This record gives sequence, structure tokens and C-alpha cells, in this order.
Amino acid sequence: MRCIFCQEEKSPGEMSLEHVFPKAIGGTYCIKSVCKSCNDRLGHSVDDALTNHKFIEFQRMSLRIPGQSGAVPNPLAKGVLASDSSQAMRSLLNDSGQLEPYLVPSVRVINGDGEKKTINFRIDSRDKDKLTEMVNKKLKRLGQEPLSREQIEAKAEFGQSEHPEIQVKIPVDLIQYKRAIMKIAYEMACTWLGDQYTSDALASTLRECIFDTRLSGDWSEKYPIHGQIIFRDQQHSLVPFINDRPYQHIVFLTRVQEKIAVYVRIFEIFDALIEVSQQADRYVRGGSHFLAIDPVTGVQYESTFEEEVRRLGEKWNIARGIRRK
Ligand SMILES: [Zn+2]
Repeated sequence: MRCIFCQEEKSPGEMSLEHVFPKAIGGTYCIKSVCKSCNDRLGHSVDDALTNHKFIEFQRMSLRIPGQSGAVPNPLAKGVLASDSSQAMRSLLNDSGQLEPYLVPSVRVINGDGEKKTINFRIDSRDKDKLTEMVNKKLKRLGQEPLSREQIEAKAEFGQSEHPEIQVKIPVDLIQYKRAIMKIAYEMACTWLGDQYTSDALASTLRECIFDTRLSGDWSEKYPIHGQIIFRDQQHSLVPFINDRPYQHIVFLTRVQEKIAVYVRIFEIFDALIEVSQQADRYVRGGSHFLAIDPVTGVQYESTFEEEVRRLGEKWNIARGIRRK
């Protein structure tokens, strides 16, 4: 078998099961045309930029889609107290999907006059039982005698804040996630157009771009790839008519005269329309394809682009008919 990325002949044992849309975003559609070493390399250097993208993490958190570790991501987890930026805070996701503030234990030594030192311990009320151990550990390090729980609690001050304001910094990647989306377009073009797609002029340009770990903002000058990859919202949506598949991942391939384009949608967050070939006549299997994946249930819907457009048209007509009555 030939791998669609390194293009080397491999034994069946060297091939792997590749999730076209990463598993961590609920992708269930798999192909077997990527070798293990390419799959490993692309997983770290390409897919992670998409699955760990902050916008994607917010969506995974709200749909409760776990990653490989089994944990649902929480992009708001680490922050600081707004009123004291030196105090680390956590926002923990509880079982009902709500965020609960948690104060990270902190120890501060305040130098007083001469030999005397003041040590401040700050802990969350949920860690109350750990206080004695924490204080005595510090005292031991300073060569001091330990204190009893009662002695420590006698000095404690209790405060309460129902809704502490927590500041969180959220870095947003603007470039690297695009390689992961191009990879999805490339893999589906290989799947739907057949083996000979790998020798298409645009296929090799796409591969180079996907492997370029130093892709920068001017990538479209370096790689002659026509298309758009955008953050999607109501004003900016490349295919707004597919409007009854909330959160689903969508990919379709369509032919326009000599050109073939692949559209990719990740949740309702990213939209991409990428030209994958300028030689449509090379492909007997060209045609048109449509695939949607429900990231929560894993259910896949496969048809053609025309079929999907017809389905939406009928649905729209039915809705209009009901309104007339
Ligand atoms: Zn390979």
C-alpha cells in the first residue's frame, strides 16, 4: 500500500487507522491510506493545532468531548485573581459542566524587623484539612518547631467570596490550525478522487504546506493554494445555506468546470473552501461527495453535494408550505 503523505510503499502492518477529523473533536470517519510514521508525525505537528485551538476547546468543553487522556478540555482552567494577579486560581469543571473557582495554595514569606518573619498561607476552604501539614512543612524547612492544628486555626482568618473575578489569558492561534484543515481537505480529496490524486500538481503543493511547521501569515504567497480558511460567524460563513446541522463537522467535494474544490467546516467555528485540483478531467471518480459527522454521537451522514442541496431545498419548501397554511 502507498501512503498518501510520504508516498512510499508500505506493508499493511506499517499502515494505520487515520481519523480524518481528529478523534478529539469527535471525528469518527477513518481512512487506511496513511502510514504509521506519517500519522504520528502529523498528529503532533498538525492535528494538535486544531484540537487544542482555544475556540475548539470551548466547543469541546460545551459538548463534553474528551481528548486522548479522557479529560474534557477546559480553556478557562488557569487564571489569576483579578484583585491580586499574584494569586493563582483555577476554574474547575464540575460533573454538571459548570465552572467552580478554586484558590491555588500559596505561601508568602514577608520579611519583618530583624529576625522576625511573617509567613502568609492562603488556601481554598476545600483544602482546610491540609493546612496543618502545609504550615509545619514550611516551619520545618525554616528550622522551627511544629504547631498544633489548634494553634494554627487560632491564627486563621476566614474570608468568603461567592463570585471571585478570575482573569484568564487566552492565546488564539491564527495560522497553524489552517494546516490541519488543509490536511482534512487533502485526505478527503485522496479518498474521493482515488489514488491518482496524489500526483496532482495541487496535491503536492498541499502536502508541502501541511508539513511546513513554520507556516507564517504570508503562507498563501509561498504556496499557490486558492481558497479561504476563516473563523466562521453569521456574517462570515462560506456556505451559509447548510444551516440545519448544528455543531456537525462537514466536508464536501464539488467540481466547477476544470476545478475541484473541497469545503471543510469544523463545528460551526471554522470554514474552509480549498481548491484541490485544476485538472478535473483527470478523475473519472470526480463527481461530488458530501459527508457530515455528528461529533457527539459519532453518526456519519454520507451522500453527494447535489443530494444535500436537494434535501435542504425540500426542507425549505416544506417549511414554506407550512407557513402558508
Ligand atoms: Zn507515510
